[in-house]
Amino acid sequence: MPQDRSELILSLFQESNALLRGHFKLTSGKHSEWYFEKIKLIERPLVLEKIIDLLVEQIRQDNLAFDYVISPAYGGIAIGFLAALKLNKLFAFSQRADEKMTIRSGFSGLDKSRAIIVEDIVTTGGSIREVLHCLHQKEVEVAEIYCLVDRSGGEVLFEGQPARSLLSLKVEAFEPEACPLCQQNLPLIKPGASDKK
Ligand SMILES: [Zn+2]
Repeated sequence: MPQDRSELILSLFQESNALLRGHFKLTSGKHSEWYFEKIKLIERPLVLEKIIDLLVEQIRQDNLAFDYVISPAYGGIAIGFLAALKLNKLFAFSQRADEKMTIRSGFSGLDKSRAIIVEDIVTTGGSIREVLHCLHQKEVEVAEIYCLVDRSGGEVLFEGQPARSLLSLKVEAFEPEACPLCQQNLPLIKPGASDKK
């Protein structure tokens, strides 16, 4: 990827406030310089549209045959829907019902079709694996998996391949005793503390 494109992607994520730079306390207790707040991706639709335009450009370049864009609820819906709109494809989403990932039967054209999966952020890949399982049951052929951000830096694999991502980076997390940001006395932020279960 040319440097100017990756800089543009980073600047758009920062403009959306989905990618924050500072000194964060993660739920694991470790500290990090970067924090993703994925709900922020959909809060500013005009910024998201610019991000989706870059994803759509990548999908077009891959030149795959597919009928549907599928995304997991909730964060993925706005992202996949916008991509499907721009690609002139059909759209469906998966959702959890009683903890189990399902796809509504109303998306009746989906069975035995070809699809791509579009997700917001891949961390462990759990949601995408569940979507893959749903799609296999419907005999849907999955042409490719895309995400905006691969937080595993390409380490999470789906059937042997990483997701195609706009931004792939593994964020380093430090034990508090060994945190260089603590050593600089930067104030520690605990993001999203109010709505975490
Ligand atoms: Zn620290």
